[in-house]
Amino acid sequence: WERKITLIVPVPLHSRRKRKRGFNQAEIVAKVLSENTGIAMDAGAVKRIKATSPQKELGDKGRKRNIRGAFAVQKNVKGEIMKKYDYLIVGAGLFGAVFAHEMTKEGKKCLVIDKRDHIAGNIYCENVEGINVHKYGAHIFHTSDKVVWEYINQFAEFNNYINSPIARYKDELYNLPFNMNTFSKMWGIVTPQEAKDIIQLQIADLNITEPKNLEEQALSLVGRDVYEKLIKGYTEKQWGRDCKDLPAFIIKRLPLRFTYDNNYFNDRYQGIPIGGYTAIIEKMLEGTEVLLNTDYKEFTAKNGQVADKVLYTGMIDEYYDYKLGVLEYRSVRFEQERYEMENYQGNAVVNYTDREVPYTRIIEHKHFEYGKQPVTIISKEYSSEWHKGDEPYYPVNNEKNNLLYEKYRQLAESENNVIFGGRLGNYKYYDMDKVIEAALDKIEELK
Ligand code: UDP
Repeated sequence: WERKITLIVPVPLHSRRKRKRGFNQAEIVAKVLSENTGIAMDAGAVKRIKATSPQKELGDKGRKRNIRGAFAVQKNVKGEIMKKYDYLIVGAGLFGAVFAHEMTKEGKKCLVIDKRDHIAGNIYCENVEGINVHKYGAHIFHTSDKVVWEYINQFAEFNNYINSPIARYKDELYNLPFNMNTFSKMWGIVTPQEAKDIIQLQIADLNITEPKNLEEQALSLVGRDVYEKLIKGYTEKQWGRDCKDLPAFIIKRLPLRFTYDNNYFNDRYQGIPIGGYTAIIEKMLEGTEVLLNTDYKEFTAKNGQVADKVLYTGMIDEYYDYKLGVLEYRSVRFEQERYEMENYQGNAVVNYTDREVPYTRIIEHKHFEYGKQPVTIISKEYSSEWHKGDEPYYPVNNEKNNLLYEKYRQLAESENNVIFGGRLGNYKYYDMDKVIEAALDKIEELK
């Protein structure tokens, strides 16, 4: 019972009675109890606002009637009584889990809540017939940061998967990222110089010195053919916006190489966790209380403030009831299919880069872990504009949204008890390694 009782509140006397009597016997008892148990006592937490008749003169029903409306809980006291956590962590995704893990290690008491019926946020994997299905889109871990790599390796062993997507434009297949294999297939050339010459020729008359948007950035990097066949359609499907209206940095995520190297990432470390991502989050959350199917707003309305501080990893604009405006996000819908065959497409990721095919890519999950099952699971990915109620996946970091986010960020900065984190809380197109880095930085800052 000691764990449950956080505050002793003596039954108060009405101020008139107290003046007359000179003391409150309940308060004297409570004080001794508090000294002996170490549980705090607050004689001001509840006030008697009605001068009631003595209970001893009344029967059962009379007593009940007598004290109806006689007491008032003083302002904020509900939260004080309930407050038993150092941190309420909203969202059991990667940011929330790293935060919970580290803070629990620091001796802080954390409660993690998530509105979904599972942990792990968008890196959640579901095991289907021995295949780890990335339910919210493919996640390939990659980083150049040794600290982050060692950090994540505490929770899982990684395989040696190297991401090498295939781009399919109508019936033509190309290697990604843009490299000598792509250029050789596109133009029938062999040497890096030949590729560079063609690109140069294709963009000479454009005079792009400083790319202002994704289209200019892409054209200046790879020329018109690659842009038209492998970038334009895919990007416009994924973002639902013209390439001229998208920021250049999105395409700079991809390496451009004049070597025959199909590794999609330039990072020093890369792989897929053996056993899937959910197991990582499970390990991170070991020893931390987690409540699923729990919506933050409903939870706080019911329980008041249960923690000193809140870490919020949901959408920052939603937290503020969109009061400064609605930030734009992209959502994704997955159509999962199962086939009685060992190998559907021969690669984990095939991008459909033409405009006609409605989905952006097909993921064949087993290839992330070199699965040999007799069946296979694929997911077709359909990109859409986010509307309230949809799952947000990608922040649309164009100028308009970044300006609005900046206003929310300033609002957040003035908060003493709320911290925002993760892709949605920080409105940033973070990769997983950057999420971990940001979480670890935040923890250092708070220590
Ligand atoms: N991209 C493209 N063609 C492709 C793959 C990617 O034009 O076949 C561009 C597109 O603009 C996309 C960006 O590169 O938004 C980043 O792609 P990435 O694969 O990193 O996106 P994510 O995996 O985060 O969805």
